[in-house]
Amino acid sequence: MNKKNLLKTIRLAKQTLKDEKFLGYTDIIFSAPKIKKSNKTNAPEPEIPAVPLKETPVPVFKGAKAKKLSEIEAVVKTCRLCRLGDSRIKAVFGEGNPDSKIMFVGEGPGYDEDRQGRPFIGRAGQLLTKIIESIGLKREDVFIANIVKCHPMIDPKNPDLRGNDRPPSKEEMACCMPFLLAQIDIIKPKVIVTLGNSSTSTLLETTETISKIRGKFHTFHKTPLMPTYHPSALLRNPALKIDVWNDMKLLKKELGL
Ligand code: SF4
Repeated sequence: MNKKNLLKTIRLAKQTLKDEKFLGYTDIIFSAPKIKKSNKTNAPEPEIPAVPLKETPVPVFKGAKAKKLSEIEAVVKTCRLCRLGDSRIKAVFGEGNPDSKIMFVGEGPGYDEDRQGRPFIGRAGQLLTKIIESIGLKREDVFIANIVKCHPMIDPKNPDLRGNDRPPSKEEMACCMPFLLAQIDIIKPKVIVTLGNSSTSTLLETTETISKIRGKFHTFHKTPLMPTYHPSALLRNPALKIDVWNDMKLLKKELGL
């Protein structure tokens, strides 16, 4: 093998190892097993079992942007503009680097987030941290927020029940949207990554499903927006990881990471 071909083979091998690491493989494999994607969109979602969570340090930032964000956070913490404010345990404003180039936007807090007042802190959050690390960043390098800041529950009288989550309604998202818009306006990210259907359809004002719309950049208020699957969808269906990995590769390219 000549030198040029050898270098090409090494490059390909390195990329393959990166891809396989992201997909969760711990041993070297030479061909990925074919995993059938589920087409069932209305299938009941299995409950994600509770697991002990790794402690995620709270990032602390100073400066003018951090100050502006903390002023809005103070308003969010006492907000009762929609009914979600009546049943939440803690409002979840969002956290991360106010100067971040990337802002991840999910749908809303779940059980764990409601208790800790922090975004993406449960199992899906740990997977999001891994996704962030796969593009060479740390969780504290980015800003993580949600469309709604309070936990939407199927039975709001039962906040201690796991699996009591539901997607926020259109009215709840519209009511909370000014807080997210203010966050985006202060942070001015170079790219927004929406996680899942709710945040994607709300910001892009589309009825297209995430599976149709992901894989390319869109625009939100002149900012490039990449929709991808919510990490909890990957926990239910690991075959979707390859799509998220491909989206993250596009994100890396866009940001020159
Ligand atoms: S979800 Fe948003 S609008 Fe509704 S109470 Fe919470 S902070 Fe206020």
